[in-house]
Amino acid sequence: MEMLDVYAELLAAGNDPSERFSGVHAHFLACGPCAQDLEGLLSALTGPDPSQPDPP
Ligand SMILES: [Zn+2]
Repeated sequence: MEMLDVYAELLAAGNDPSERFSGVHAHFLACGPCAQDLEGLLSALTGPDPSQPDPP
């Protein structure tokens, strides 16, 4: 799934790509493996602790 990288980068940047890429969003809801890939990419982009998205 090519859009996974783009989708993860948008999420990591604090955007909500679920509207612009509603088809991709729906796929993540329906496809467990892709949802896990997204989670992995996201944690790689944002670090292991996403609870502090704002830099000091
Ligand atoms: Zn999939």
